[in-house]
Amino acid sequence: MPIKNESSTRFMDEIRIISPWAFLLVILGYLAAIAALVIANLSRKSPFPLAAMVPMAIVGGTFVGCYFLLIGYVNRDAGRRGMSRLAWTLLAILIPNALGIVLYFVLRKPRIAICPQCGASLEPGFGFCPGCRYRLNPVCLKCQRAVHAGDKFCPYCGSDLGAGANEVVQGAGSAGKSSGF
Ligand SMILES: [Zn+2]
Ligand SMILES: [Zn+2]
Repeated sequence: MPIKNESSTRFMDEIRIISPWAFLLVILGYLAAIAALVIANLSRKSPFPLAAMVPMAIVGGTFVGCYFLLIGYVNRDAGRRGMSRLAWTLLAILIPNALGIVLYFVLRKPRIAICPQCGASLEPGFGFCPGCRYRLNPVCLKCQRAVHAGDKFCPYCGSDLGAGANEVVQGAGSAGKSSGF
C-alpha cells in the first residue's frame, strides 16, 4: 500500500507545519472550557447538569481547537506559497464563520518548490529546473514531455520508455523526496 503510506505521510507533513503555539492555544482552549464548566457548576448558575455539560465542553473545545489549528495552518502555509502570512492570518481570524479560512483555501497559490540542486524556485509541472537543468519529473526522452513513473510508452509520442525509464524514474524519485517538504 505505498499510495496510502504516501498520503498519510503527506498529511503528517501538513500537520507538522502548524506552529507549536497553535497547539498550545488548543490546549488552553480545552482548559478554558473545563474551567468554565467547573466554575458554572460551583456557582450553581449552570443551566444544564454536569453530565450534559461535559460532552458540550468537549465538542465546543474540539470545534474551537480545529479553528485555531486551521488558523495556524494558514499562517504557515501562506508563507511557503509566497503569500502574505500576516494578511491571511488576519483574514482567517477576522472574517467571521471561518469564511477567511475558506477563502484562503479557495485562493491559495500553488506551493513554491525549490530545486534540490541549485535552490531555484520551481513552478508545478516543470520537467526541469530552469536554473541548472536538474530533472524534476520523469520525461519522455524523445519528446521531453512529462510522463508517469510507471508508464511503458510515452502517452504523447508513443515512444518506448522501457530502456531509459528506470534511470528517469530514479532521478524523479530522489528529486521528489528531497524537494518534498
Ligand atoms: Zn536547479
Ligand atoms: Zn514522448
